[in-house]
Amino acid sequence: MTDFGKTLVECLESRESFERMVILNDERTGLEVSVVIHDTTLGPALGGTRWYPFPTRAEALVDNQRLAKDMTYKLALAVGQDTELAQAGVSFGGGKAVIRGHPTQDKDRRKEQLRAYAALINSLAGGFVTAVDVGTSVEDMITMKEVTKWVAGLPKEMGGSGDPSPATAHGVTWGMRACLEAVFDSDSFKDKTIAIQGIAGKVGSILARDLASQGAILIGSGGVNQAAAQKIATELGAKLVPPDEIYEQQCDVFAACALGGTLNDNTIPKLRCRISAGGANNQLWEPIRHAAMLHDRGILHAPAFWINAGGVINVAHELHPEGYYQERAAADVKKIYDRGKTIIDISRKEKVPPYTVAIRLAEDRIRNAKRTGCPATRK
Ligand code: NAD
Repeated sequence: MTDFGKTLVECLESRESFERMVILNDERTGLEVSVVIHDTTLGPALGGTRWYPFPTRAEALVDNQRLAKDMTYKLALAVGQDTELAQAGVSFGGGKAVIRGHPTQDKDRRKEQLRAYAALINSLAGGFVTAVDVGTSVEDMITMKEVTKWVAGLPKEMGGSGDPSPATAHGVTWGMRACLEAVFDSDSFKDKTIAIQGIAGKVGSILARDLASQGAILIGSGGVNQAAAQKIATELGAKLVPPDEIYEQQCDVFAACALGGTLNDNTIPKLRCRISAGGANNQLWEPIRHAAMLHDRGILHAPAFWINAGGVINVAHELHPEGYYQERAAADVKKIYDRGKTIIDISRKEKVPPYTVAIRLAEDRIRNAKRTGCPATRK
């Protein structure tokens, strides 16, 4: 999974296999985009398009590979045989796209670039379906939809699933419940103290409201926009602390909902919680080592690719044969709780971090599908 230190050469030389990597440098529009399809054993690769000014092409590609692989694991876990999607014969592999550069502000030029990118997606013949990620917007998806049908994350008025953030936050709430039950023998949030890093973000703020409405006591921290953090803290009666003091707060659950890599050698020793469960992607700087470090400290850490899958589950429901239906999507988001119970039970029995178990379950599902040729009906 995440390895922030790898170079492109190391990625390409490693035994890691990626099914397909396509790079387009479009002189006409100035677009530079890469699409990485990591694994389509379980179905077409689903993954967002990140538009970000990576300093070099190599850095963009390394990140693209890492993100694509994360999606394979996330979707393999999220769409188990008990889900509405799998029962309708739909499941997904993992992929991701990266547009390198500052997101273009000129509207016409942006549309031209997105149409060129959409044509590239068409050339993949349904092998890659994309949606919104950092730097891209729902408007971008609407533009691309003019050219390709392999786009999801459209507005509700267009039959789409809308903003994925509420589903992501609700999924985190379900995942936290599974963790609470394992640690405190009760999944109730009443009087539990939760420290949310990124309390003013799209995911963090919805999560905070969810938890406050269920009786949790909140501590929060914000980023550059401290006014926004103060506003939600006041609304919910949360204690707001400076960004670098969030780790040392005495709490039951630490919820990383800001940037990736915030759980690392410096921050893990500071934690004073029993559970780490948040919505941010790639929370662990070095996943295997830092998952073990949390485990050794007796902190139950919920792997991000398990607990924050609610948004992608919701988007994936646009590809349900009967179209998007919110209640059906919400039922699959709720399965994050069941998945968590399984992961935590195995982790406890085998005395290994939940991260290790989650990866193994995802890989088992892919291996079984390869063996049986029957992706949607295998866990
Ligand atoms: P966002 O930009 O709306 O929220 C992030 C918030 O974190 C912002 O308010 C920002 O000011 C704050 N922040 C930045 N640095 C901080 C710091 N050092 N300390 C405290 N706060 C800080 O983004 P989002 O959509 O809410 O996503 C949050 C995380 O969840 C990201 O890692 C994202 O990749 C992940 N995620 C989001 C979704 C989704 O549906 N939005 C789905 C899956 C994963």
